Amino acid sequence: MNHRLHKLRSQFPHLGIDAFLVTNPPHLRYVSNFSGSSGIGFITKTLTVLITDGRYTTQARRQAKGWSVRIAPDSLFEELGKTNLLRKGLRIGFDGNVLPYSLCLSLKKRFPWVQFLSKIGSVERIAAVKEPTEVRKIRRAVAITDKVFDEILGVIRPGVTELDIAAEISYRHRKHGAEADAFESIVASGPRGALPHGHASSRKIRNREFVTLDFGCVYEGYYSDFTRTVSVGKPSQEWKSIYQIVLDAQRKAIDAAATGMAARDLDAVARNHIRKMGYDEYFNHSLGHGLGMQIHEPPRISTRSSARLQSGNVITIEPGIYIPHSGGVRIEDDVLVTNGSCEVLTTSEKELLIL
Ligand code: ZN
Ligand code: ZN
Repeated sequence: MNHRLHKLRSQFPHLGIDAFLVTNPPHLRYVSNFSGSSGIGFITKTLTVLITDGRYTTQARRQAKGWSVRIAPDSLFEELGKTNLLRKGLRIGFDGNVLPYSLCLSLKKRFPWVQFLSKIGSVERIAAVKEPTEVRKIRRAVAITDKVFDEILGVIRPGVTELDIAAEISYRHRKHGAEADAFESIVASGPRGALPHGHASSRKIRNREFVTLDFGCVYEGYYSDFTRTVSVGKPSQEWKSIYQIVLDAQRKAIDAAATGMAARDLDAVARNHIRKMGYDEYFNHSLGHGLGMQIHEPPRISTRSSARLQSGNVITIEPGIYIPHSGGVRIEDDVLVTNGSCEVLTTSEKELLIL
């Protein structure tokens, strides 16, 4: 954890701050190892203070080694005030993307002698480059999800509802050692496949239609994210060729991904292929995103991204084509960017599976 704190602190001069207030649970876990759902971290140039409530007394002391742990009888921020660390003129950075506006206003009112400055992405910038121990955990999360996909193929058949499949996914994730689903699983069959984020419904799967499954799990705080589209029964020629276009676009992007590449150029590799085949208006989301202690992290792989791929980034590559009222295809793998190229962590079959 110390080198993460060191990296955060080394940004202080550049950010124009003297301390940083961590309020987002995944960010707090990243810098302190404390995994409770309620807590704040206060990091000065020399001190680290973790404030949580009585439910987490034992856990916080055990997990946040080297941190001064304080248990707040009431408000976490009142407890911060009691530390005497908020001296006059102190410039405190926080992530304005995660601190609620109302809380920000009340902090400014309660401690008018210090400056609160929003510094978005300060923790995420560091977390975007994974350490070997983190990669190991992501690999494990990805392996669990691959295994679950293999197992649920036997469940997907006409007459089964999307919710049945989502329930199987959750159950099997936990059976294989995941602590949770990464998000509410997407199971979108037939025309519902046109909804890129179609959560499982009570719709029954029919013969001769596609089913898109997008799910992932959390293992020791790290996420996997995975999508496959499978065909139940023989697919039409049109949908077979759409599948191939998405698959080719996805493979081209994987082949192109490398350290130093602009994220928007990587997005363009897949998008240009889909455009060439005449379907670009139906690929209406970004190509991918970073993945780690949160399901969506920097770098964003989109047309507007200003990020560059760095060795150690773990990203998703997930092109799709969605035809309104008709259906959709998406294929998503998790990929580790390494020097010169990338390593695909997902191992599940990508050729069209006909069940
Ligand atoms: Zn996904
Ligand atoms: Zn994703």
